[in-house]
Amino acid sequence: MTGRLAAISHYINGQAVAATSGRSQVVFNPATGAEIAEVALASEAEVNAAVAAAQAAAPAWADTAPLKRARVLFKFKELIEKHHDELAAMITREHGKVFSDAKGEVVRGLEIVEYACGMPQLLKTQFTDNIGGGIDNWQLRQPLGVTAGITPFNFPVMVPLWMAPVSIGCGNTFVLKPSERDPSPSLLLADLFKQAGLPDGVFNVVQGDKLAVDALIHHPDVKAISFVGSTPIAEYIYTEGARRKGAYPLRVQALGGAKNHLVVMPDADLDQAVDALIGAAYGSAGERCMAISVAVAVGSVADKLVDALVPRVKALKVRNGMEPDAEMGPVVTAAHKAKIESYIEQGVKAGAKLVVDGRGHQVPGHEQGFFLGGSLFDHVSIEMSIYQEEIFGPVLCVVRVADLGAAIDVINRHEFGNGVSLFTSDGNTAREFSRRIEAGMVGVNVPIPVPMAWHSFGGWKRSLFGDAHIYGEEGVRFYTRYKSIMQRWPASIGKGAEFTMPVAK
Ligand code: NAD
Repeated sequence: MTGRLAAISHYINGQAVAATSGRSQVVFNPATGAEIAEVALASEAEVNAAVAAAQAAAPAWADTAPLKRARVLFKFKELIEKHHDELAAMITREHGKVFSDAKGEVVRGLEIVEYACGMPQLLKTQFTDNIGGGIDNWQLRQPLGVTAGITPFNFPVMVPLWMAPVSIGCGNTFVLKPSERDPSPSLLLADLFKQAGLPDGVFNVVQGDKLAVDALIHHPDVKAISFVGSTPIAEYIYTEGARRKGAYPLRVQALGGAKNHLVVMPDADLDQAVDALIGAAYGSAGERCMAISVAVAVGSVADKLVDALVPRVKALKVRNGMEPDAEMGPVVTAAHKAKIESYIEQGVKAGAKLVVDGRGHQVPGHEQGFFLGGSLFDHVSIEMSIYQEEIFGPVLCVVRVADLGAAIDVINRHEFGNGVSLFTSDGNTAREFSRRIEAGMVGVNVPIPVPMAWHSFGGWKRSLFGDAHIYGEEGVRFYTRYKSIMQRWPASIGKGAEFTMPVAK
């Protein structure tokens, strides 16, 4: 830390901890381009201290009754509601998304806390009375111990809340490694957990980069890692985790990148499809893993669709996210802005038709901010990098196809399979599409089908590594170990050793 800017550091064992690594990174306000803070990048020793605190807190927390754990989560929920605006303003300040969108992010995280408040019910298991010979059989779902979460920049409140409340509700302790690009909300969440009565060491935060991530993967006391971020890092964590030696193989769920398509059928309500595309492609400046980045125009709808989209993309209100009428804020960093611009250049060179060019967009009074206007490409073909790769910016590509079969074929050939959407007024079309499409989350006349807290979230193909989707019942399964118990008492036990395979009698 240089001391020139406000310092953002770790939270270990119930308190803020000053950094010792000597490594740090600048945090920007994307709307102004100003340097606003410096975030610590943890050393291995600092990660080990967080894991040690989580390990020390684990036995007592695992032995705390699920109802008592849930009571802490109820208080945590109330505190998030009380600090809703403060959390949202922090998100806007470091991420850039508009304030109303940031408030929505907090709500979608809060819903997972509400879900985890039902943990006593969720941890209930099955019991079979008298499988034979006076023996009963039932299961336990036991916590794993120390779990860790590694989260992306685009949802600095929601994604940590996809993980920590479920893990902690199940009786685990948790170490969060947030994105170094917008790290502040993690510390407010830690403080709110403490105010809610969570024992010290149950929730910890280490700020950092690859070094911290590697230290978590290879720490023998870390039993499970939930990762959300880009596909190369998801794959790295999944494969590196599988190589770890020791008594406990690391359990990993790693959610990666996306290229989400929205198919517009000729029978769709065009106004509704256009509204959906504008919100889903340009909301949060396209920096959502469920953002729609490809519109698949089927048959005769293509020209009408592009004609309707062009004025809407040009009219987007691109502003500082704290302004009340802002529809789209800046992208997260100058480097990310340059990367998006280079994709636009690649699209032009490859022969796609750039019908709206968002480069060079100026927001008066914010000339140093990382702003782009919305961009729209027509006649995109599937070999182009703007189609193949995740741009993660306000760029929508229109791909024209002849019929529904071709639309499904194009989507199923893409390496990602996160979300997908179909706009139609025909039930059979919707049914056929939903059954044949290879993606984890499907919307019919719903552009961003993010499952609710009690349904689990996750993609297919290279959008998810590991078996478990995140939160909901799959989350509870991921954060617990299944144990079967058989029991009988001496009065039911006959005399003599048995040498045959035991069967029900
Ligand atoms: P990212 O992969 O760059 O970073 C995610 C996390 O990994 C961060 O905490 C970061 O510090 C860490 N990290 C970065 N480089 C690393 C490395 N070399 N080794 C180990 N750890 C490393 O992702 P991002 O840019 O923060 O977020 C955007 C990406 O996340 C997009 O690809 C988006 O689709 C994806 N995402 C996916 C989902 C989902 O649910 N599938 C949700 C949100 C975001």
